[in-house]
Amino acid sequence: MNTVAGTGKIPLSAAFTEAYRRAPEGVWHAPGRINVIGEHTDYNDGFVLPFALPLGVSVAAARRDDAVLEVRSLQAADAGVTVSLDGTGPGEVQRWAERERWAAYPFGVASLLRERGAGGASLLIDSDLPQGAGLSSSAALECATALALCELYGLDDLAADRAELARLAQRAEHDYAGMPCGIMDQSASLLCRAGHALMLDCRSGLSSHVPIDLPGKDLTLLVVNTRARHTLTGGEYARRRAECERAAALLGVDALRDVKDLGAALARLDDPVLRRRTQHVVTENHRVEATVGLLRAGAETELGGMLTASHLSLRDLYEVSWPEADLTVEAALRGGARGGRMVGGGFGGSVIVLTATARADRVRDAIFAAYRDRGLPEPDFIEAVPSAGAHRL
Ligand code: ADP
Ligand code: MG
Repeated sequence: MNTVAGTGKIPLSAAFTEAYRRAPEGVWHAPGRINVIGEHTDYNDGFVLPFALPLGVSVAAARRDDAVLEVRSLQAADAGVTVSLDGTGPGEVQRWAERERWAAYPFGVASLLRERGAGGASLLIDSDLPQGAGLSSSAALECATALALCELYGLDDLAADRAELARLAQRAEHDYAGMPCGIMDQSASLLCRAGHALMLDCRSGLSSHVPIDLPGKDLTLLVVNTRARHTLTGGEYARRRAECERAAALLGVDALRDVKDLGAALARLDDPVLRRRTQHVVTENHRVEATVGLLRAGAETELGGMLTASHLSLRDLYEVSWPEADLTVEAALRGGARGGRMVGGGFGGSVIVLTATARADRVRDAIFAAYRDRGLPEPDFIEAVPSAGAHRL
């Protein structure tokens, strides 16, 4: 049964009935994700390899007979929004109070689906996914809303074309929430399958499902929320993108994904910063492909080296790591983990650690001890189990 996060007792549908004085027509769920490997490759037209988490966003929903969206969240109890889907647009969000801005994600999706024939709805959101931890709660919120509205309004072709629905959710995040994100998060939330990672080509949008069997190999993948966010570095993401574009232009390719001969490319770049960025992107794409090769060979136990290599590249060549992430990876390795790396854009967020299940407690203890020694707040741990993409509950 789908229950309200944190209580484990009240079904979300009952909370909906209490909030809106009528029953929902259904409850939909969309997961968050972690990216196994392929960091800062998406905007270089490269490859990523996410899988869906067991955690996610649920939406209880019912149609309305007007074109009004009424949306509330159990995680933002005092900040519901009621807004017309006709005659409004992204600018509407600017009129809302700061605490209501979270509703830009469902409002964006509902507005874009209005153009495709959907109507108004009442929505109640609940989630067990931490927000802003790099596990993609924003995409989960968009995708749960998108699937709910498609199914409620019989937009069956769109509901079945998950890649197209991912682009629509991405557009909602760009245009309504003002976040120029890539396509990975929405694709993972909508396209993933239990027991599989999703190999996604960010240029073509094509994807394939790659089996990943961690329990069968006695492995555990931990997500460590380092709880650090180094805010002075907000412009670094844009700077990395610009550096990659500059390197690609100097090399005469559309994107760094197109570099075929890394040695020759590095010899042609005078700027050491651009050389480092190029080396990361090109080798990171190789690591995604190599990781897919390992998975297809059933060699999950060998993934650790790929993760650690990715981390070192992000730390030393792309320079987006942060002290708590380096500390986590080092402590995990010392504790006997097979490998680990920072995930997400950098300068804060989460780290993933691959360990033999029998050693997981020791690895966790080593990480706790390292944080304690530095006087840092305890990190959170989640076990990442490759789970199903968005679906009706
Ligand atoms: P991430 O996607 O890594 O979690 P983002 O900053 O992209 O981080 O998205 C987090 C934002 O998504 C939150 O600040 C909030 O606006 C919105 N959000 C996510 N989950 C919920 C929820 N359950 N209720 C309300 N808003 C949510
Ligand atoms: Mg997000």
